Amino acid sequence: MSQTIAVLKGDGIGPEIMEASLRVLDALDCDLTYEFHDAGLAALDKHGTLVPPETLAAIATHRVALKGPLTTPIGKGFSSINVQLRRHFELYANVRPAISFPGTRSRYDNIDLITVRENTEGAYLAEGQSLSEDGETALSSIRVTRSGSERIVRYAFELARQKGRQKVTAVHKANIIKTSSGLFLEVAREVARDYPEIEFQEMIVDNACMQLVMNPNQFDVIVTTNLFGDILSDLCAGLVGGLGLAPGSNIGSEVAIFEAVHGSAPDIAGKKIANPCALLLAAADMLDHLGMVEKGAKIRGGIREVLENDREQVTPDMGGNGTTDTFADALVKVVRR
Ligand code: ATP
Ligand code: MG
Repeated sequence: MSQTIAVLKGDGIGPEIMEASLRVLDALDCDLTYEFHDAGLAALDKHGTLVPPETLAAIATHRVALKGPLTTPIGKGFSSINVQLRRHFELYANVRPAISFPGTRSRYDNIDLITVRENTEGAYLAEGQSLSEDGETALSSIRVTRSGSERIVRYAFELARQKGRQKVTAVHKANIIKTSSGLFLEVAREVARDYPEIEFQEMIVDNACMQLVMNPNQFDVIVTTNLFGDILSDLCAGLVGGLGLAPGSNIGSEVAIFEAVHGSAPDIAGKKIANPCALLLAAADMLDHLGMVEKGAKIRGGIREVLENDREQVTPDMGGNGTTDTFADALVKVVRR
């Protein structure tokens, strides 16, 4: 039976890279039905809100969404769309794979790691922030819960198991932030016992940064709290050549939303030169999530092959002379074989 997914094309280059990505999914015969819904600037024009209730309802019904970059207007009192979606569906895990691809400018060429970031607690709390009246003292708090830690660490181990990964590294600062980071680490150790086939490693965040820069291949799956995850996932994107090839997923217990990490790039919108790779890699992760692991692998392998053998068709940001469409054409040809 065909699976229906909610598709949010997004703003700026969103519609272009989405069209390219859906063409590739179609070429793979994934038997997916797309239900298109508005969000972002397009929704604001039509419905007067950035995230219309119909869109939320559709995501809730279909439980899986593929989402292009959305623009939140700055300085008009709108709260970030991504934050709204995360809160509404309690998307507690932000998953960011970093994979090396040929022909990208980066320091390493065989990186394949995944960062799993807790996304609902930690240092990212709206409450508990204060500034003293004289402006001299600012206070912010960190909240880590046993259940929140268990949920994220278990997710990381389940992901490792599903993807045949060998090792999970819990990154913390329990030596200094003894309560909150200590609780996270304690729970990570407990959960790790349920997965004896997967190696468990713990690493202090400062050391993890150095190790990532000096010897990234020792890592496989990294799991960490909100703030460290924010920083480490961008560090990892930098290791493989920046955000152009960075997909991300936001996972909750009911809903999963797959997206490109980059923004809507209004400067190149409509020029047909946007690189669709990040969204395509997000689509590949979505196929994994839906149990179509071989098809997901075909997208990743296909991108690798086009980057290696068909560089003329690649978009300018990756050094080619191609367009969004020529890249998609080349990829469609490869995945069809
Ligand atoms: P937003 O306001 O939605 O974040 P942005 O312009 O900041 O949009 P970023 O993703 O931060 O978008 O991108 C910064 C720059 O990187 C853009 O100006 C664009 O030139 C380039 N860029 C981003 N994504 C792509 C892409 N998929 N293909 C080609 N270039 C891109
Ligand atoms: Mg931006």
